[in-house]
Amino acid sequence: SSNTSNNLLLDQVASVIEQAGLSKFKLESELRTAINQGDVQTVFQPIHDIQDDRIAGFEALSRWSHPTRGFISPVEFIALAEETDLIIEVGDLVFSRAIELLARLPDHVFININVSSKQLDDDQFLNRVLQKIKSHGISPNRLKLEITETMVVDFNLARKWLKKCQDIGFPVCADDFGTGHSGMEQLVELCFDVLKVDQVFIRNMNKSKRHQTILQTIAMMAKQLQTQLVAEGVEVAEQLKTLKDLGFDYGQGYLFGKPMLEADVLQLQF
Ligand code: C2E
Ligand code: MG
Ligand code: MG
Ligand code: MG
Repeated sequence: SSNTSNNLLLDQVASVIEQAGLSKFKLESELRTAINQGDVQTVFQPIHDIQDDRIAGFEALSRWSHPTRGFISPVEFIALAEETDLIIEVGDLVFSRAIELLARLPDHVFININVSSKQLDDDQFLNRVLQKIKSHGISPNRLKLEITETMVVDFNLARKWLKKCQDIGFPVCADDFGTGHSGMEQLVELCFDVLKVDQVFIRNMNKSKRHQTILQTIAMMAKQLQTQLVAEGVEVAEQLKTLKDLGFDYGQGYLFGKPMLEADVLQLQF
């Protein structure tokens, strides 16, 4: 009967709404709760000094452990947070935890933090970070801000972001370098302090001559531009050897260590 087909249709509509919007809305309110309850954690992955063979710093990464859905990847919830203003709250949380950890680590150790465009557009964001580092007596050069290539759509705006950060003394890193659409143009237009070369290049460098050639070229440019170089996703010793030969400053990846809890960081020798 038409009644049954109506019900079927309603079910389908409900399911489409659920997939498209409702579940996102629910997830958003759950993320808000998670932030308040401390279910969004910060972990720290070692950044290894390749030439000196020691830990130089860490990258702070967010983790959401959801009571029923289990572990939710930052790839998923950071994007969700960025659509709302929750990214400001997640960001403030990460900065607080990283700065508290920095205060307990030797002065030569730094922490990298991923920032979103919403944070950089927020006039009060850098002031809050500055307050926090001042109250802990931390030097700003120990906090490196990572921005991804894909965030840079407008060079004028990006130059303003860099100036605001670098005037305070925060080094700025180009994250996932090489995967955006304007690698070379960015190098000309923006004076990054650090380039973090995306893991796709590291994964392929010992398999593909073309990847290796591009890496050699990036390494040469970075040296001339006096920009530090970090390799992301270093997993095997063979990659490390090649990176050392290429003159990379730092490496990050499972070969050196997975993201770890603050308590485990404090057990390390520096
Ligand atoms: P990202 O900034 O490029 O961070 C590096 C990612 O590579 C991390 O994924 C890390 O766990 C992973 N990784 C590290 N070493 C290896 C390796 O040897 N092999 C492989 N296959 N992967 C490795 P994760 O933690 O899942 O984070 C994904 C992305 O989410 C980050 O990419 C970053 O863009 C974003 N993100 C994470 N936390 C935050 C945050 O607090 N704020 C913002 N704005 N973004 C964040
Ligand atoms: Mg990053
Ligand atoms: Mg990256
Ligand atoms: Mg990435």
